[in-house]
Formats: sequence, C-alpha cells, structure tokens
Amino acid sequence: MNRRSFLKSSGAGSLLGLSPRGLFASPAIRRLRRSDPRWPSKEAWKRLNDAVGGNLIPVDFPINACTSSPESAACKALFANLKNPYYIGDNPAVTQTLGWVDAWATQPSVHAVAARNAADIAAAVNFARKNNLRLVIKGGGHSYQGTSNAPDSLLIWTRHMHDVTIQSDFVPRGCRATHAPQRAVTLGSGAIWLQAYDAVTTKAGAYVQGGGCTTVGVAGLIQSGGFGSFSKHYGMAAAGLLEAEVVTAAGEVRIANACTNSDLFWALKGGGGGTFGVVSRLTLRVRDLPEFAGGANFTVKASSDEAYRRLIRRFVGFYREALFNDQWGEQAHFSPHNKLEISMVHLGLDTQQSQKVWQPFLHWVAQSSAAYTIESEPGIGSMPFRHWWDAGWRHEHHSDAFIADPRSGASPNNVWWDGDSGQVGCVIWGYESLWMPASLLEDDSQEKLANALFAASRFSEVGLHFNKGLAGAPSEAIEAAKNTAMNPAVCHAFALAIVADGQGPAYPGIPGHEPDLAKGREAAANVRRSMNELRAVAPGGGAYVSESNFFESDFQHSYWGTNYPRLAELKKKYDPDGLFIVHNGAGSEHWTADGFTRR
Ligand SMILES: Cc1cc2nc3c(=O)[nH]c(=O)nc-3n(C[C@H](O)[C@H](O)[C@H](O)COP(=O)(O)OP(=O)(O)OC[C@H]3O[C@@H](n4cnc5c(N)ncnc54)[C@H](O)[C@@H]3O)c2cc1C
Repeated sequence: MNRRSFLKSSGAGSLLGLSPRGLFASPAIRRLRRSDPRWPSKEAWKRLNDAVGGNLIPVDFPINACTSSPESAACKALFANLKNPYYIGDNPAVTQTLGWVDAWATQPSVHAVAARNAADIAAAVNFARKNNLRLVIKGGGHSYQGTSNAPDSLLIWTRHMHDVTIQSDFVPRGCRATHAPQRAVTLGSGAIWLQAYDAVTTKAGAYVQGGGCTTVGVAGLIQSGGFGSFSKHYGMAAAGLLEAEVVTAAGEVRIANACTNSDLFWALKGGGGGTFGVVSRLTLRVRDLPEFAGGANFTVKASSDEAYRRLIRRFVGFYREALFNDQWGEQAHFSPHNKLEISMVHLGLDTQQSQKVWQPFLHWVAQSSAAYTIESEPGIGSMPFRHWWDAGWRHEHHSDAFIADPRSGASPNNVWWDGDSGQVGCVIWGYESLWMPASLLEDDSQEKLANALFAASRFSEVGLHFNKGLAGAPSEAIEAAKNTAMNPAVCHAFALAIVADGQGPAYPGIPGHEPDLAKGREAAANVRRSMNELRAVAPGGGAYVSESNFFESDFQHSYWGTNYPRLAELKKKYDPDGLFIVHNGAGSEHWTADGFTRR
C-alpha cells in the first residue's frame, strides 16, 4: 500500500490540506557548486588527500589547451589522442564518449580520488556526503549517457584498481552451506575487459562472460547487465556475478552476494551503474572454454530496393533456420545503401562446420548475380578460442583485428577492436535500442519483420545485435537473467536492434573541432524515424540501459520493466539522499537534470 492510499483508508486524508507541503516528502537537497562559499576549504581537501594516501588529484581538462589555440600542434595532438581509448582511459578529465548533440558534452570534475582500494573510496564517499558534494564514479568511462562525468563534482576514479586473481574454489562469503566451491575471477573494479580476458582466457585457457569492447570497464558493464560476443551461449555478464564489494552511501564497505545483502546484489546485476554504491571489487564465474571460436564477415549489396527487400526477407528466414541458436552472436546491419553487412561470431564450430552453415544463404545470393554483389570475399572460419583476445597471436595471424595503443611505452596488451574505433572519442548524434521479440521470427511474422527492417533502413543503418537478446540461449542462461534487475524483455528477444549515428572527436567551442549540429540533428531525426519503423512491429520492447537514447521516454519501464519498483525501493534503502545520481538512473526522476538538486 502506498502512502497516499494509507492516508485515505485511515481517514487522515482530510488532514492533507493542513500539512505543510513536503512534511512527508524527501527534503530538498542542493549540492554545492565550486563557486559556493560553503565549498570545502583547502584544509578540508588536504585532509581528504591525507586520508586517501595522497591520491587526491586536481583534474585538468586537456581540451582547455585548444580554447585559445585550436590550430596549435598541442591541440592537434590532443584530438589525435582522443582516438586512442587508452589515452582517454588514463586521463581522469575525459570520457570515451565525448558528448551527445543537444544532450551533454564531457566536463571535468574539480578533484578526483584516484582510488587504490575500498578505504580510499569510503573516504571519498564520506567526504562528498558530509560536504554535500556532487559525486561521480568513473571506471572505463564508456557511458554513452554521460553518467561518469559532471562539472563541480568530486570524482571517484577506479582506473588503478585493476588486480585480477583467479581462484579455483571460490565460495561467496556466507554461502558455505548453499554454494559449492567454483572457479572464479576476482577483479578490481577499475579493470577493463581486456585485462580480464588476458588473465582468464589467454593465460588460463578459461572463459569469463564480459563485454565485446575490450576497453569497457568491468564494473560499469556488470551493472548495465552486460553482453559480450558469446552471450547467446553464456548469458548476461551480470548473471555471472558471484560477489561484489561495495561502498554504500553511508560509507560502509559491504559484501553483496546471494547470501549477504542479497537485495543489493540483485540491484547491482543490471540495475544501472553509479546508482547503488561504489563497487570496489567483483568476483565472476569462470567457465570452460570451447576449442574453437570464429566468425562470418561479408557484405552483400542489392542492385535495387526490390532486390534488397527480398534479400532481407531471405536473411530473416535463414537466421531463423540456421543461426537462431546459442552458437551464433553479434551483428547484421541493414543500410540505406541496400547493403546487408554480416559481422557475426560463433563458438564451438570448426572452419568447415561454420562455412557449411552459411552455404545455403551464399548459394541463394550467388544464384541471383544480377541482383546481388558480394562486396568482399566472405571470411568465414574458426580459430583457437584461447587466442581470441590474445594481442600477440592476433598480431601474427590477423593483424587488422586489433589496433594497438601507439603511445611509446604502452603495454602490448593495450589493444582495441578495429570495429570499435569509430566509437572512440565520439560525439553521438542519435542512438536508440529496442529488444526484438522472438515471436517476430515465427513463420507468419517473418515477412512483417523483414518489411520493418527494410523500412527502417531507409532512414538510417539498423544493426541487429543477436548476442544481446537471450531467446535461443540455453535455458540456464535465461533463468540466470531472470534473477537480475534487467528488463525481462531480454529473455524473449532474439536480438537488440540498435540504430545510432555520430561523429569522431569534437567539442563545443573549439573552432575546427566542433560537433556538427546541423548534421547531428538531422541524423537524430533519422535514427528516430528508423527506430519507429521497428517499434511498429515490436511495441513496448524496452531498451538496453547502457546502449540507448539519452532522451528515452519512460526510461524506468524501458530499462527495467517490471523490476523498476523494486529497484526504486532499493535505491531509497541504500542511498536515501541520492548521493549517487546518474542521468536516467533509478531514483533520478526526483532530481534536476544536472543531478545537483532534489526536487
Ligand atoms: C565503444 C563502446 C562499446 C561498448 N560495447 C558494449 C558491449 O559490447 N556490450 C555491452 O553490454 N555494453 C557495451 N557498451 C556499453 C557499456 O557496457 C556501458 O556504457 C558501461 O556502463 C561502461 O562501463 P565503463 O566502466 O566503461 O564506463 P563508465 O562511464 O566509467 O561507467 C558507466 C556507469 O557505471 C558507473 N560506474 C563505473 N564504475 C563504477 C563502480 N566501480 N561502481 C559503481 N558505479 C560505477 C559510472 O558512474 C557510470 O554511471 C559499450 C560502450 C561503448 C562506448
């Protein structure tokens, strides 16, 4: 029963008019800006610096160097560096997405605690709470929504907390009676996925479910729900979380797992980053590694709209027949230029087996050579799974797969997928996602789905990310997903559709490097039109919290569906005063857009 109905049924409703406004509401809060006279003194900051072992750092915004001299060599070098995700990750002042036209542009905090452990984090949390400061947390810095930066804030920066330890017999604390020991990996919350894969797969020959992009942070991804290339088999990354160490808004260091603080544990599994506390450490399930993994990459161009419509229709049927299972993940793209681009991965198949899967489709395409051109020789095959994220092996065998950090002295493991380069330092023009229900793959719905994909592709390129929908996954993966905070729509979706557009590094007010507002707004309108065509066949599908529209309407339902009321309650329980507020995060509806004022 809510408070309003309680007052009514107890007969106290008539007293409402006499109550001072806000008597029962949460008190208003206004976080301090740097210009506020109550902003902490130098001495207070020094005390925090002492408490965190000298790891309080001022945050210098490198883009300032361009304001007065945009033509300078230093400014050019900076914009070149902004295409390197490791440069960005190593700098507390910038973020992997630099902004979003008409939404946000990255802004530095005033100070950052470059945390080394949970005690540093607790000191920063206590300082922010006592001094009424806006607090932000940054791990890998990949938030599209700008949730890891805010001006006039104190930043908790976890970049240096990247220890990785593999354990053969991990039991979550307090779970001895219910949980058998199992193989697990414990990661500092500032680790990025490549560091996890290097330790677990390349070095130990095992598997941990993480994200596709090598430079995404482990804590941000787990709290998003998280999908990697092979999630159609292993499930959501968050579902593999066994335990987290979390610093709550009260400054307490808590353990969250299935047996201890289990409600907080559930919220951390997909309830959204930067919302329930600061995660300092994560322990994830480790699985066996199949012998092979591989991919299928090629592009087919249709000679006319009609031929393209037929191609899409054929692909939809082929996907349902041959690829709608836990072996195949990643993407197919449908573009306004009548191209179908296949960029998929598989696991457990050898080269011959994977090529055989595609034969019927490629045969169908080849039969209509007047209508279709295969733009590049199909690359379909396998490799030892153990080397999937092995920078050295890839360099030797697939030298174009990874891009390496060009800075002198950089670790040879500082690599990122060539396919992700377009997103480094990018400014988003438009971005929307939608879970596509598997019912659209039924025989009598395939035509409808194909027509919607064609119609959507007239406005903007549409990507179907098959590994980000769990229909077709093993039942264990689906059951585990149900035990997370993510929108249950993920369990019935065969793919997450993403329509997005943007540009390379840019920043408002820097001549020669400004976001293209006119193009950006037009692209955003096309993204919207495109997605509306898909929404027409998948109404109420929901969106993935971390890969979605900044302007998502009804974000609570879109991101979390029926799980939102529970998340909202947990937000009140663990962070009643909104120390952790992020754009479109749980509880953010009570705060102004800048996260400084509780209404
Ligand atoms: C290029 C690119 C590729 C991507 N690829 C994938 C993909 O393959 N699969 C997928 O599922 N998603 C993907 N994403 C989305 C990504 O998973 C989310 O944006 C994720 O939240 C990023 O985490 P981060 O630590 O890198 O980012 P951050 O911006 O540092 O953090 C994201 C959010 O989590 C919070 N947060 C970070 N660390 C902590 C912590 N220790 N404790 C509490 N809160 C914390 C931040 O405050 C912020 O709100 C991608 C994003 C980009 C930009």
